[in-house]
Amino acid sequence: MKNKIFLLTTIFLMTIFLIGCGDESEDKKISDEKNSNTEKISEVVKIPPNDVIVADDFSNIQLDSADKPVFDKYTIWERQESGLPMELPPFEEYSDGKIAYLTFDDGPDDKNTPMILDILKNYGIHATFYVCGNMVEAYPDVLKRIYAEGHAIGNHSYNHVYKELYPSTDNFLKQINQTDEIIKSVIGVRPLTIRTPGGRAGMWTADYEPLMTACGYVEHDWNVSVEDATSKKPSPQEMIKFVDEQTNKSFRKDAAIILMHSNKGKENSAAALPGIIEVLVNKGYKFGVVTPMTPQPW
Ligand SMILES: [Zn+2]
Repeated sequence: MKNKIFLLTTIFLMTIFLIGCGDESEDKKISDEKNSNTEKISEVVKIPPNDVIVADDFSNIQLDSADKPVFDKYTIWERQESGLPMELPPFEEYSDGKIAYLTFDDGPDDKNTPMILDILKNYGIHATFYVCGNMVEAYPDVLKRIYAEGHAIGNHSYNHVYKELYPSTDNFLKQINQTDEIIKSVIGVRPLTIRTPGGRAGMWTADYEPLMTACGYVEHDWNVSVEDATSKKPSPQEMIKFVDEQTNKSFRKDAAIILMHSNKGKENSAAALPGIIEVLVNKGYKFGVVTPMTPQPW
């Protein structure tokens, strides 16, 4: 009996030991792979020539063009750990006549986002993609293409699930930081702009604003919508009409910030894009990408 107990105890302890070792080497393997992937990626993804990488003290943040995406080489936690400023210095909103900011939320995906990128390339126009961390994990190559082709990227949370994001500012910030890290692991830099899922009129409360400001993020809602995430399910022709009608009014600093989506199921939005661009060009709009300096829509 004693021997049996001894044997069982020995087997139990050896199993624990082996499982422990297994976990450790597996963890190490994963972290080694992650490191070598990150190194490989940062070697491959070059900074596009038009992009601005902010200085350690953000001193170069004031831009002279609406067509220059702005990124940071540090995440917020890296800034905090290195004692670098996290909050942006005061800056003027950019303004230079009528500028349309095409924005695409909830991607990237492997179908509509590439289609939208092809259309933008044909017209020689840059846009802004507010991406979700879980979508970037699924389609990192599409994010690399967005970046390489000179578009701006904004943070749109990790999973877009309202009930996980909005119970507290801590939950919200955690998803924003997580997504920054994912974006940085793919393209080597992180965005300074965010769009809160559902917009500020949704579940975003007054508590979120000071926290985002303290962490150097600038949130932008929109003032024109193609309504492609509503129950209306508009056709491409209806979306073009919405943009036409909604841009008949004037905007703060002449900035039209247009909400569209590029994820699965948004084929109509991709189909409407050439018509939307043509409506805007005919009304005298130039095109810009969203940066912290982009005027707030309201
Ligand atoms: Zn969204």
